[in-house]
Amino acid sequence: MAKIILDKSKCVGCGVCQAVCPKYFELGQDGKSKLKKGKNNSDKEELEIDEIDCAQEAAESCPAQCIHIEN
Ligand code: SF4
Repeated sequence: MAKIILDKSKCVGCGVCQAVCPKYFELGQDGKSKLKKGKNNSDKEELEIDEIDCAQEAAESCPAQCIHIEN
């Protein structure tokens, strides 16, 4: 089990995460990334996942470095 942590306060809304990993990420109405089915905890969203899959690539591709993966 792993966890994606998205720090929305740093997100610049570039859309890269959604492009490389639509399985877990999408742009919300506020123009910032959100986690599909994630727990919204104000500026930080979390999602527990079974497989890291494309989330690793999203974390490495994010220009604002606001996506973190915890194993
Ligand atoms: S790649 Fe990073 S900065 Fe760009 S939309 Fe996703 S979380 Fe936000």
